[in-house]
Amino acid sequence: MALLSINPTTGKEIKAYPEYSQNLVKKILDSSSITQMKWSTTDLKFRLDCLKRISEILMDKKREYALIISEEMGKPLKQAEGEVGKCAWLCEYYFENSKEYLLDKNIDISGQKSFVTFQPIGLVLGVMPWNFPFWQVFRFAIPNVTVGNGAILKHASNVQGSAFAIEACFNDAGFPKNIFRNITVNSKAVADIIDNSKISAVTITGSTPAGRSVAATAGRALKKTVLELGGSDPYIILDDADINIAISSCINGRILNTGQSCIAAKRIIVTQSIHDNFLKNIEQKLSEKIMGDPMDDVDIGPMVSIQARNEVHDQVLSSINDGAILHLGGFIPKSRGAFYPITLLSNVTPGMVAFDEEIFGPVFTIIRAQDEENAIVLGNLTPFGLGAAIFTKDIEKGEEIAKFRLNAGACFVNDFVKSDPRLPFGGIKDSGYGRELAINGMMEFVNVKTVVVKDS
Ligand code: NAP
Repeated sequence: MALLSINPTTGKEIKAYPEYSQNLVKKILDSSSITQMKWSTTDLKFRLDCLKRISEILMDKKREYALIISEEMGKPLKQAEGEVGKCAWLCEYYFENSKEYLLDKNIDISGQKSFVTFQPIGLVLGVMPWNFPFWQVFRFAIPNVTVGNGAILKHASNVQGSAFAIEACFNDAGFPKNIFRNITVNSKAVADIIDNSKISAVTITGSTPAGRSVAATAGRALKKTVLELGGSDPYIILDDADINIAISSCINGRILNTGQSCIAAKRIIVTQSIHDNFLKNIEQKLSEKIMGDPMDDVDIGPMVSIQARNEVHDQVLSSINDGAILHLGGFIPKSRGAFYPITLLSNVTPGMVAFDEEIFGPVFTIIRAQDEENAIVLGNLTPFGLGAAIFTKDIEKGEEIAKFRLNAGACFVNDFVKSDPRLPFGGIKDSGYGRELAINGMMEFVNVKTVVVKDS
């Protein structure tokens, strides 16, 4: 069997990647485990030098990598270049800060010397999605290799070109071969890999069902997990919001990556008094956006696959059938490729698919709220808890709502939700648990070891 990369713009096969046998996977894990043991004893400075070099390679080859990304999953080329640049930023960030993060911490326990030290735990498996095929991998792998772990990548089946390009990038940067390994397998092979004694922990970024499955297997094997799963972020627009800022943030937060982002603006909740004005203006702005070949200067490219596009279309049709009003899009274009136009729905209410489920595509759902209280209740009325945004000119109120009232892993006031290497990233409820990025991401897969030394 082979894993296929299909260009979603043309529908043509890019390449078929033969799947690794169980035996080959076992051999790779054995080799990587030996390499990791040596790697864990290297000087931190040596590891940080590798980080510096990988960030330089990413910048030098930004265009080359971006072309692979855009061809494989349809992201507009400019956004793909931005993604690669962001990976370089992440490497720089950990290059600058890891020394401080990994310093032993002395603890005063009256008389005896004691300290806490942060030690590697072994090989960490990363099960990764296609939507940010470089960024998701780097944000799992870089903190891990920096602490002395090894990173084993099981990438999404359709982006093996990106996976191998990343593996080569690690090797070119001087990381020992096998400290970062891509293994070409499909999701059915994941449970056996988690069970392999050489794997110490697993992190998955993907859908909630995939997260449940990985967590169940890892739980049985008593291996730690981080789960970065789906989201249905509410964007709450209050009466006193700056409507232009709110509209541009909702658009930026929804059309990035053709709507295929975990932290997209998936439910836009607008209070009664400004609802009609907001709807009229966002419709106007959205109608100016351009869909087309991701290699051109476009706002959205194709979705990742025909199947994904058709699923989104079914969700839109189901919501319209249940009373949502269609203002823009909502049809399958005649052209080839997995294109789906920017779609705008209003009159969306709980009980409709567009409210209750995650829609992973360029679909704007506008929800009318009676007032501020009702908007917050509607915002929290979701099984997910990844991101949230609140728009108001009253900054104190915005901060208070963000801090205490919205149930999510990240709440932004007057801006769209985004990831940043300096800020912890992750969710609650069905969006998963654990954190990536910042110091928190680095500390997920270390042995927080207590050392107490008694004078003999
Ligand atoms: P997906 O179908 O869950 O796939 C993600 C990864 O998990 C792929 O490598 C996939 O392998 C693997 N996988 C799927 N089912 C599995 C199972 N039962 N056991 C083990 N591995 C399994 O998700 P996707 O469609 O690629 O990505 C979209 C989802 O990811 C959305 O829900 C989105 O919100 C979420 N996401 C979350 C974050 C975050 O940080 N929280 C970031 C990005 C995306 P195959 O490709 O071989 O099937």
